Amino acid sequence: MELLELREDRVRFLLRGVTPAFANGIRRACLAEVPSLAIDEISIYDNTSVLFDEQLSLRLGLVPIKAEDLSLYRVSEECDCGGAGCPACQVGMTLTAEGPSIVHSGDLRFGDPAVNVAFEKIPLAILGEGEKLMLEGIVTLNRGTVHIKWQAGTQCGYKNLPDIGISEDCERCGKCADVCPREILVIEEGDGRVKVTDPTSCSLCKLCVVECETGRIKVVPIEDVFVMKIDTDGSISAKDLVIGAATEIKRRAMSLSEQLSELA
Ligand SMILES: [Zn+2]
Repeated sequence: MELLELREDRVRFLLRGVTPAFANGIRRACLAEVPSLAIDEISIYDNTSVLFDEQLSLRLGLVPIKAEDLSLYRVSEECDCGGAGCPACQVGMTLTAEGPSIVHSGDLRFGDPAVNVAFEKIPLAILGEGEKLMLEGIVTLNRGTVHIKWQAGTQCGYKNLPDIGISEDCERCGKCADVCPREILVIEEGDGRVKVTDPTSCSLCKLCVVECETGRIKVVPIEDVFVMKIDTDGSISAKDLVIGAATEIKRRAMSLSEQLSELA
């Protein structure tokens, strides 16, 4: 594994020596298997805005929510309380607003000071003069397999790393560099040779191959090397999301191994 880029909400890395199924396993686990927080149940006491209760609830459910330490919370079915509801698996939330105003995600108030929205400025509703909102809800931890609102990974994808080869007898016309949409091919000053700058940014569009009339450039995907890109919705850091995905895959593999050994 080779780290290419690490931000709070994005990680890019190279995975070498794995199958497409393994790379896809990481991607799918990032999307659906790592638990995150979301508003689950909502009780609306007053809503005189133009939004239907259902529209408002949908928007609230999709607000990314983060915790200082997510490991303190449990998925309710796996909690010691047996799903009845306790501070380890539920956090209370309230919203009270009166127009004229724009209600933002930052107006939500949580019962646990260690829990808050990932972004304060997500617009939720526009309230006219005298219009009111008063509601409360419950934030729970769960997985993207249950509902998309618990999906912390947003854009998660992978592609093969390309092997870009330019033969020695290249005529140095520069057409391949002109046509490359990602500016990966550049003409070196002086001798006019084509240089490959960052193959991890290549989308394998092969426009350069089509443009090169003499066939001196080849772009071939390396079958067992993948460029992984994982984006999050802000509720979990990209680093924690990938670690959580790998941990989940490991847990399942060990569980399968145990069950198979019991059968043997
Ligand atoms: Zn509980």
